[in-house]
Amino acid sequence: MKKLFLFLNLIFAVMTTIQASRPDNAKLDRKVDKIHRSIISIDSHTDTPLRFTLQGFDISKRHDPDKDHSKVDFPRMKEGGLDAAFFAIFLSQGKRTQEGYHKVIDKTFSLFDTIHKITGSFPELCGLALTPADAIRLKKEGKRIIFIGIENGYAIGDRLDLIQTYFNKGARYITLCHTKNNDICDSSTDTIQNNGLSLFGKKVVAEMNRTGMMVDVSHISDKSFYDVITLTKAPVIASHSCSRAICDNHRNLDDNMLKMLSRNGGVIQMCILSDYVKKPDPNPARDSAEKALYKKYHNFSDLTEEEMKQAHIDWDTFEHGFPQKLATVADVVDHIDHIVKVAGIDHVGIGTDFDGGGGVTGCYDVSQMKNITKELVKRGYTTGQIRKIWGGNLMRVMDKVRVISIKLNTVNN
Ligand SMILES: [Zn+2]
Repeated sequence: MKKLFLFLNLIFAVMTTIQASRPDNAKLDRKVDKIHRSIISIDSHTDTPLRFTLQGFDISKRHDPDKDHSKVDFPRMKEGGLDAAFFAIFLSQGKRTQEGYHKVIDKTFSLFDTIHKITGSFPELCGLALTPADAIRLKKEGKRIIFIGIENGYAIGDRLDLIQTYFNKGARYITLCHTKNNDICDSSTDTIQNNGLSLFGKKVVAEMNRTGMMVDVSHISDKSFYDVITLTKAPVIASHSCSRAICDNHRNLDDNMLKMLSRNGGVIQMCILSDYVKKPDPNPARDSAEKALYKKYHNFSDLTEEEMKQAHIDWDTFEHGFPQKLATVADVVDHIDHIVKVAGIDHVGIGTDFDGGGGVTGCYDVSQMKNITKELVKRGYTTGQIRKIWGGNLMRVMDKVRVISIKLNTVNN
């Protein structure tokens, strides 16, 4: 009888907890929905265009991320409360020769065409944005907002004039390099070669300031970062990077760099690629399979279209065969907390790297992005602060970069 009494008591306690938490959860959901209706949320880095070229991906349809690993489409953006995404024109690092430059420039032009075609194909669903004002207009029209960024300054080859050309085609940032050194600067994941920015790299930064193209410091080496921050006349962004103090990875920014970025008026956009968020548990089988893939595809550098297609298929098979224990949304917000402490609330944003490896437990694809907002609300962030994190800070930088470009052009004339 005593046991039955204890059991009934336990049931009662569980029921009370469930009933008490349900209204709280519903209230939190309503609050988060309300926040997303009132802000413009921007993800500053997705590699989604890779899916258009490699798989003939239909972005207007809802996809199942468990089936095709895709992370972004318009229906899921709506579900996750994401208004705007930067589509990255990604160029893998190839030969630094005239032949290599010709190839990469052709590829960049064709990727612009692909993005323009996609955005032009669904005028009722989305629009291309060139300024924060465009984003505000498109949000009012209930459409998804597409910005363009370029990942890897290799895209310009050895031609400064292409910065203006790409700007005119709609690009609003260039990530100076990718995982390998290029003619502009050293990468955080390669050996020292230029010792930071090269002479050409310095001219590139000046020309980006003049044209109003945002300088993106994600992927670049520490010395390259300090060279940029000393030289630039405009605020810079890190389109997809995290805090090195929270996750010790060379791709992330240490506290001193965060302080310098803050003084520069720039913004670091929190990347949610698990390895940069939380040090992975040791997994030798996965590590050696990953190493073998990197070897097979020459560090994913200089691949033909066909090789790239096959590399994607092999990568999906690898992810299935060696699943990784992913970091969580709480881990992501730990980085945001730290960056806010070190750099300030005006210098942090979000750049997922979806479709380029990004995704954590609780925010595995774009449909789950409100979970980040939920965690921010739970930790006491106000709507005003969340507005800044979700895009306000990035739009401030975009505006500032544009104004400085106008000034620089006036001075030069
Ligand atoms: Zn990247």
